[in-house]
Amino acid sequence: MDRSVAYLDNQATTPVDPRVREAMLPFLGQVFGNPHSRDHAFGWDAANAVRRSRADVAALVNADDDEVVFTSGATESCNLALRGVAKAAPDRRRRIITIATEHPAVIETVRDLGQTGFEVVILSVGSDGIVDLDHMDSMLNDRTLVVSVMAGNNEIGVLQPLAEIGAMCRHYGVIFHTDATQAMGRIAVDVDDWQVDLLSLSGHKMYGPKGVGALFVREGTPIAPVFAGGGQEFGLRPGTVPVQLVVGLGEACALAVDSWRADAKRIAELTNHLKAGLMESCPVIRFFGSMERRLPGSLSVGFGWPAHEVIAKVSDRIAVSTGSACSSDSTEPSRVLRALGLNDEAAASGVRISLGRFNIDKDVAAALNAFSRLPVAQEEYG
Ligand SMILES: *Cc1c(COP(=O)(O)O)cnc(C)c1O
Repeated sequence: MDRSVAYLDNQATTPVDPRVREAMLPFLGQVFGNPHSRDHAFGWDAANAVRRSRADVAALVNADDDEVVFTSGATESCNLALRGVAKAAPDRRRRIITIATEHPAVIETVRDLGQTGFEVVILSVGSDGIVDLDHMDSMLNDRTLVVSVMAGNNEIGVLQPLAEIGAMCRHYGVIFHTDATQAMGRIAVDVDDWQVDLLSLSGHKMYGPKGVGALFVREGTPIAPVFAGGGQEFGLRPGTVPVQLVVGLGEACALAVDSWRADAKRIAELTNHLKAGLMESCPVIRFFGSMERRLPGSLSVGFGWPAHEVIAKVSDRIAVSTGSACSSDSTEPSRVLRALGLNDEAAASGVRISLGRFNIDKDVAAALNAFSRLPVAQEEYG
């Protein structure tokens, strides 16, 4: 890795916090037991570690310990949430509602369920990226099975009004899932404040390891497993729990409980500094998505040039991206920016800049320096 390049792509993944790595190391060494071995101390030690981690995850989202199911990451959590409730659905609830700016983990899963007899409703968002609550309300009824709306967007950072949507879902007896992957450790996450029944999160977006995540399942939510196997994770997610990864996720959650507020404040200050500097150096700059309701550290910026050209010019100094590490072609207009009503030219210009816990003033200076070398685009666009 080239350490002279400042990492400003924390929405794609975050570095593992050194304290997380330290917590994991014993579980790659002497503490190797299978947490499901009930007959000896090797198993008990592993099981205790898993139990502590479950409590740490639960504490961060204000859940009970036995409402946390460990998975391989947010993609699996979203799949288990949506496919699991679809499998357990009563015949009269056939509608699934989501929004146009969801991560593929949700939108592709929902589309897939649409092929198996469910009615899929994908709601549009406003030019600020936020779903219209009246529109949501008009689509909800007592034949709706589940609503899935993300907390913070992975590409543009916009926050959705989850508490309001949660209240609506309760009113109609509809299950409410949120993909909170980007929100963890960045804003307050409380499953009761949002009235969510299912919440997906991922280790590697919150300074933990890759390959582990969790699904919060509110007690009493009708959901069936999608894999068959041993009865691990309350029968919902069979397979041996990866103790070392789960310990890393637990530590990441414990650190987030302690530091998210201070992190958010510091990161927001750095981001404001960056934003002000960019506006000074680039006269035709645009920022995409609501500037009020967004994750700290997240900017979606148009410089008046196609994003992949901008990125090619700055990549020797900073790591930024077109927004979605998961879509194949970075020269295509962004699906998320198109959903905001932008034309193809504007939607292909969005550069995602995302700051995190380990960014410092020097990184902002590097970004300002790198972007200041861009030729100035003359025209208003989009
Ligand atoms: C990264 C991400 C995912 C996928 O998480 P994995 O743990 O990599 O599977 C899902 N949703 C959102 C919003 C994300 O940012």
